[in-house]
Amino acid sequence: MNSQKEVELFKRRCKRLISKIRKDFPLLKNTTINFKVKKLKSGSMMSTRIFCNYTLTADFEKYKDASDKELTGVLAHELSHFESYWKKNIWEMLKFGFLYIFSDKFVKKVERQTDIIAMKRGYREELLANRLFLRRTSSKEDKKRLKKYHYLSVKEIKKRLKKFRERNRNDSRN
Ligand SMILES: [Zn+2]
Repeated sequence: MNSQKEVELFKRRCKRLISKIRKDFPLLKNTTINFKVKKLKSGSMMSTRIFCNYTLTADFEKYKDASDKELTGVLAHELSHFESYWKKNIWEMLKFGFLYIFSDKFVKKVERQTDIIAMKRGYREELLANRLFLRRTSSKEDKKRLKKYHYLSVKEIKKRLKKFRERNRNDSRN
């Protein structure tokens, strides 16, 4: 049973984390991001844009036990979505919505790209922590969804993280 208070605290925690990481998403500087909690049938967090209205919807049940780091990973992924929405005009946004509903291939492409943006913005460790969390806690359907839509797998994220660390080590040596 989750009390209203628990949900309120969760909302506050997410909002605090969003305001902490949004500096790394400069295109969203003047964008208001609404935050909502709702039970989601598939997936655990969702970002939508309707005109100038950017809304992030989170499933409390699925994320209530996540650490700040695990939450930050998914929030960085969602802010990456918002940045690409921000670049679109209304027609491009409609096309996006249409394709997202009807083309699995399109969803795959979008979700992988979004993971890559989040990592490039510096949220590699957090994304990995998030995927490990989801692997531990997700329902069978959500796990299937993660796999079907080719979000970066734990293995792929680790590989990119390793490469990034090696590059950093070399840079600091030079
Ligand atoms: Zn996504």
